[in-house]
Amino acid sequence: MKIYISADIEGVTGTTHWDETDRKNLDFKEFQEQMTAEVVASCEGALEAGASEIWVKDAHDTARNIIASKLPREVKLVRGWSGHPFFMVQDLDETFHAVVLIGYHSPAGSDANPLAHTGSRSLAQVKINDRYASELLLKAYTAALVRVPIVFVSGDDGICKEAELLNPNILTVAVKQGVGNSTVNIHPHLAVEKIRESVHMALEADVSGCRIQMPEFFSVEITYKDHADAYRAAFFPGASLKAPHKIQFETKDYFEVMRLLLFVT
Ligand SMILES: [Zn+2]
Repeated sequence: MKIYISADIEGVTGTTHWDETDRKNLDFKEFQEQMTAEVVASCEGALEAGASEIWVKDAHDTARNIIASKLPREVKLVRGWSGHPFFMVQDLDETFHAVVLIGYHSPAGSDANPLAHTGSRSLAQVKINDRYASELLLKAYTAALVRVPIVFVSGDDGICKEAELLNPNILTVAVKQGVGNSTVNIHPHLAVEKIRESVHMALEADVSGCRIQMPEFFSVEITYKDHADAYRAAFFPGASLKAPHKIQFETKDYFEVMRLLLFVT
């Protein structure tokens, strides 16, 4: 059983300020360790459930955050960005049994995490078919493209609720709740315990129940904080400027959505 784990940091217990997510800051080390601990816990849960091979994608910022020596030996760690449009689930394909998301966070436009964003922080919001697109939604459609179900999500309370709406069979562990510019967090050790147990449970269940329905048509709207970014992005083939800060793009092929996001965000 081959498992894919994609990990971010803004949905790890404790992270509250951008300084804590940036490797150039002293604050970062504590949260780098917690991100690593939550990933290790998910690997242990997967191994207990019978995983024989685990790929971990470090999917935050520089993608050079997770402390490799703490991971189990069965893990292959993907660091940095290849430039492939699959982005946070690079190299995911049909050979994987399931996807696990650790440290994921609410999208741009949400108030459920002070660090809420979608992709680049230069974006005010991304909408697909008139719904706020979180990084979870973007990866759920990507995984659906290669027919691999997402079975577990940990992160802030907002993203866990979204996962449950996407498919109630997806197991979640909410490690924090955002209140304005603050967070209410569970204990780091408790987060680790809950993640290990829930990933184990999620992978012992019939994962086919976690598949999601792919829309047949994608209407994408990207709103930038800076109007000049929208002006430039509107030159992407098929995109058009809808308002000074907003572009629109429509397609039936989700891969084209990922290609768009690679070049205009
Ligand atoms: Zn991140």
